[in-house]
Amino acid sequence: MSVLVPILVFALVTLVAAYFRARLPIYIVATLAALGIAWILGASATASIVLLAITALIGALLLIAPIRKALITKPFLSFYTRILPPLSETERVALEAGTVAFEGQLFSGKPDWNVLLSQPKPILTAEEQAFLDGPVEEVCRMTNDWEVTHIRADLPPEVWDYLKRNKFFGMIVPKEYGGLGFTALANHKVIQKLASISTVLSSTVGVPNSLGPAELLLHYGTQEQKDYYLPRLAVGHEVPCFGLTGPWAGSDATSIPDYGVVCKGEWKGEQVLGVKLTFDKRYITLAPVSTLIGLAFRMYDPDGLMGDRADIGITIALLPRDTKGVDIGRRHFPLNSPFQNGPIQGREVFIPLSQLLGGQKYAGKGWTMLVECLSIGRSITLPSTAAGGARLAALVTGAYARIRKQFGTSIGHFEGVEEALANIAGLAYTTSALAEASAAAVTRGELPAVPSTISKYHCTEMGRRVAQHAMDIHGGKGIILGPRNYLGRAWQAAPVAITVEGANIMTRTLMIFGQGAILCHPWVLKEMKAVAIEDPKQRLDAFDESLFGHIGMAISNGVRSLWLGLTNAALVGAPGDSFTRPYFKKMNRYSAALSLVADISMSLMGGKLKFKEHLSGRLGDVLSQLYISSAMLKRYQDQGSPVADQPLLAWSLQNSFYELEKSFDKALRNYPAAWAAGLLRLLVLPLGRRARFPSDTLTHQISQMMMVPNEARSRLGEGVFLTPCENNPAGRINSYLEAAVAAEATERKFLKALKKHDIEALSFNTQLDEGVREGWISAEERAQLEHLREITIETISVDDFDSEELRSAGYAELMAKLGERTAHAA
Ligand SMILES: Cc1cc2nc3c(=O)[nH]c(=O)nc-3n(C[C@H](O)[C@H](O)[C@H](O)COP(=O)(O)OP(=O)(O)OC[C@H]3O[C@@H](n4cnc5c(N)ncnc54)[C@H](O)[C@@H]3O)c2cc1C
Repeated sequence: MSVLVPILVFALVTLVAAYFRARLPIYIVATLAALGIAWILGASATASIVLLAITALIGALLLIAPIRKALITKPFLSFYTRILPPLSETERVALEAGTVAFEGQLFSGKPDWNVLLSQPKPILTAEEQAFLDGPVEEVCRMTNDWEVTHIRADLPPEVWDYLKRNKFFGMIVPKEYGGLGFTALANHKVIQKLASISTVLSSTVGVPNSLGPAELLLHYGTQEQKDYYLPRLAVGHEVPCFGLTGPWAGSDATSIPDYGVVCKGEWKGEQVLGVKLTFDKRYITLAPVSTLIGLAFRMYDPDGLMGDRADIGITIALLPRDTKGVDIGRRHFPLNSPFQNGPIQGREVFIPLSQLLGGQKYAGKGWTMLVECLSIGRSITLPSTAAGGARLAALVTGAYARIRKQFGTSIGHFEGVEEALANIAGLAYTTSALAEASAAAVTRGELPAVPSTISKYHCTEMGRRVAQHAMDIHGGKGIILGPRNYLGRAWQAAPVAITVEGANIMTRTLMIFGQGAILCHPWVLKEMKAVAIEDPKQRLDAFDESLFGHIGMAISNGVRSLWLGLTNAALVGAPGDSFTRPYFKKMNRYSAALSLVADISMSLMGGKLKFKEHLSGRLGDVLSQLYISSAMLKRYQDQGSPVADQPLLAWSLQNSFYELEKSFDKALRNYPAAWAAGLLRLLVLPLGRRARFPSDTLTHQISQMMMVPNEARSRLGEGVFLTPCENNPAGRINSYLEAAVAAEATERKFLKALKKHDIEALSFNTQLDEGVREGWISAEERAQLEHLREITIETISVDDFDSEELRSAGYAELMAKLGERTAHAA
């Protein structure tokens, strides 16, 4: 027994020190003291002496720098150099392009929540709010999405004109250049609202304010280029597009075969030095109407006219549309969401060097420029579009599910529908918090490389799920296209958002964890930088500085993960009130587990980890769910912790944790190294998966919340276009909800009377007449039922057309051509 005591004391002090991350000298002193006391109190002398000696040895090894460096750091350094992922130039640029803020805490295993909760609450300026309430509201009112998507396959001229006059294309252009100079938060709110009426409208406005000539000019343009182009872009005199993608280079954008050769040529009547461009681009948004093309190409200088580098690298040109040799104007047709999008080709198109973005100085730096700016646009346009669509879908589907009745009751009262409706509500709550978080990060001046990929991927995926559930609940009403259909086009357009700005599969499996594990990890990037130092002594010293912090953190995370897993994080400290604290506690646990699995995986697989996309995708999911949950908790705090929102927040967090544990489970079940899988499962999920999907009670509660006017529902619908005007069928249906709910008691009374009495009348109106005559309902109640009938008809009605109306414009000519071809073939 007395032999066991020193061992237990040693183990306990070690575990406690690891859990609380005690500094090494404190750990050594505490262990020596505890063992000494145990010995004095009668524990085995031999065991105590052996353990005292081991502790002293550990202290000497780790605390005496020359011994430590020679015996531990050096072998680790050579191991690390062997496993270090060989970074391509593209990856190096991507890694160096982003900043790291709160998300870094999620990789620490012991997040300092204050870093999150002390971020300023995102607020619009009075001018930005007035823009949302004025021009944005007005342009939403003006836009008839059916006319846009079916009849014109374009925005009408008056909408284009309104957008340009009101500087919608110049939201990010500073005021000194004639733009609106809005924050990223305002950009997010504008896109969110526009998307709720028409995705053609939101993408038309989104692109000029996202990655493209304006953003790039702001960061890298020469003064002359800024002075000339920015004022023109701000008011729509120039319509920009950005051409990177081509048939041979999609996701692998750095492999573009488009090239420009440095040579002399004629420009505006003079012989100047420039580049001759040959390119083939496709899928370029706004290209058909664009006047200024930001063109990415690889620049070569075989004759050494600019210097001694023959392959200069990826470069960006500002190519005016009317430049000789540019072939532009044809359109692609992206899934019945006909925003302007099309190919651009050019052969031997000459432009002077002054048309290179940033001038000669930035020749060859195109990829760095793109990656540095990418996280800004990616944080805003697509997440905001998804948030706008999801918020609108939550409100209108709630109203529809209440007004539409089958089997004598609102369809939203059936448990099957309830489940789909709760998913819509929870995912809309989640998407909107996430989109706001990434926009707020840009507003704070960050370049949120990792949050932008999380936001882009998850908002668009959740947006697609919301659209799917909304379609299911609407049944045929969602399927029959026409002016009354507010869902079909959003459903069709969902894959567009999934594909652009980094296609989602690659974003999930390659980028989120791939960048997160290096950029956000407290030590890995420092170690990688240390390894790259040329001087051997400085390299060893720099590596030594990071290594022990890293090892200490990894040990601590193992202990924390196990303990917090066993106790379900019940005993750990966390911020928040009685409602949010339990969630923060669980996130402490997940953070420790993520960091642990990331460390073990990087040590075991090194550079090969990036090819293990199953694992990388699943760990990316864990990181994402932690970030998403943080975004929701932060917004809840910013909104003043409204009690009314608690069911929505609870559903969303529980869903998030459920997904998170599922991803851990899948990752560990399929872990590439079997022995490590067992150990990691013990440390990460010691009692198996404990997070449960939101209960049926909670599901019922939030689905019911969507079907009756209330504070939480209104807050969820904030920032979307709900005005019940002619062009907004969704807004109109939403506006009927209150009256529909108020009329239900009368409706029940009337239906009961109809069942009970012998009724002769067959039509609704004559039944009402009889009801009033017989005294079952009053005249006011009759009026109420008539109104209910009207709004129900308006809610459930769909469109129908003459065959002629559904035919393409130019049908006769097309048929004639087809006839010619058929005759020819025969
Ligand atoms: C409507 C629309 C608008 C667009 N607008 C523009 C624009 O304005 N400017 C512009 O330059 N480009 C634009 N694009 C291009 C867009 O960014 C690309 O479509 C996108 O990068 C994907 O390229 P791809 O379509 O060729 O797919 P591919 O690269 O062929 O990818 C196909 C699938 O393979 C997956 N994949 C590829 N590599 C990996 C990997 N390493 N790991 C895992 N999965 C992988 C992808 O995720 C995707 O699911 C637009 C595209 C569309 C459809």
